[in-house]
Amino acid sequence: MHFTADPEERFPAFVNYAQRDTEVLLVERLRAESRITLLVEHRLTAVEQDHDLVRAQVESPAGPLQVEAAYVVGCDGAGSTVRSHLGFGFEGRSYDIRFLLCDVRAHKPAIAERRLHFDPPFNRGRTVLVHPAPDSVWHIDWQVGSDPIDVAEERASGRVDERVRAVLGDPPYDLLWLTTYSFRSLKAPRMRIGRAFLAGDAAHVYSPYGARGLNSGLADADNLAWRLALVLTGAVEPTVLGGYDREREPTARDNLAITDTTARFMAPPSRRLRWRRDAVLAASRLVPSVRRLVNSGRFYEPARYGPARTDGPCESERSSRTICPRGCPHRLVLYCARNESAQDLRARLAGVST
Ligand SMILES: Cc1cc2nc3c(=O)[nH]c(=O)nc-3n(C[C@H](O)[C@H](O)[C@H](O)COP(=O)(O)OP(=O)(O)OC[C@H]3O[C@@H](n4cnc5c(N)ncnc54)[C@H](O)[C@@H]3O)c2cc1C
Repeated sequence: MHFTADPEERFPAFVNYAQRDTEVLLVERLRAESRITLLVEHRLTAVEQDHDLVRAQVESPAGPLQVEAAYVVGCDGAGSTVRSHLGFGFEGRSYDIRFLLCDVRAHKPAIAERRLHFDPPFNRGRTVLVHPAPDSVWHIDWQVGSDPIDVAEERASGRVDERVRAVLGDPPYDLLWLTTYSFRSLKAPRMRIGRAFLAGDAAHVYSPYGARGLNSGLADADNLAWRLALVLTGAVEPTVLGGYDREREPTARDNLAITDTTARFMAPPSRRLRWRRDAVLAASRLVPSVRRLVNSGRFYEPARYGPARTDGPCESERSSRTICPRGCPHRLVLYCARNESAQDLRARLAGVST
């Protein structure tokens, strides 16, 4: 997907693109790829690995199956079967803080922009977040009590309508989606063990601030896919797979720290953090320089990896930024160093044959 940039603007546009639409595009792309077999209604129930192979037990509509493969990638979400069966672990914390989230389609609402309300009159002591999305859709998040919420009851009682009206005013609206969620900040200490890899929520679960969940899952897949493709076609040695954990695990650690800090500002879990947050908000109204401490989320940005390590087998071709395919007359430049600009990278790639 390409987004056009307006040369008059200093920054690219802020784009809210719904996850369900992103997933439809991804599945369409998978179906169009002749080398991929997509098995729906199949559930992984167990997986094990040895030095040479991965063996998976799968429940299918036609009965149980055993699948043998060279590698397995667990993209099976926060409750990952791959993660639990292969001993990756999952560490971090869950917060006792709950949000009620809805999507509504409303024309001409009383507001026209993204708003974050701290302690508003219509949700005293708590937070309300309002994001515009394409097609006149608004995402509204209300911080609610820590007890589980009965979504159907909340809707039937008219409380959802009261909440929506307090934010959007009087225009007619359609309620498209209503759900609840609570925060978790969890991460597997490793993203690769032997022939098994984790990607997406199977490897890391962040609080939603900063839009780093799905975005970083896609970046995991992007980082791993080319490595597996080159190894499976015999172009490079399997050692290149080691770079996945080396690059993506520290990125997940950074994402976790960033989203955790924002979560603690948006919905402080203790009196001390609440006091500090409120002091920052109060001071920021008077002192502009304090506004940078208002942490409403640092949006997802591409990871910056350190200088690449050479994973290839060819000693003669080793350099800090190249991986040498088997048999080498060609070199494949795969990384850019931390301080390298896109322009420098393009200039360097222009002289490289792959
Ligand atoms: C309120 C909220 C707002 C969010 N907002 C954003 C945002 O703005 N931007 C963003 O980037 N992220 C956001 N996220 C995070 C994002 O939704 C997740 O990070 C993303 O869905 C993770 O994708 P995934 O494919 O790794 O896991 P999942 O979406 O959990 O998908 C896992 C898949 O694996 C399947 N599966 C599970 N177990 C098995 C099994 N045993 N066998 C076969 N299949 C199995 C499941 O059926 C599912 O299809 C938000 C999350 C929440 C809760």
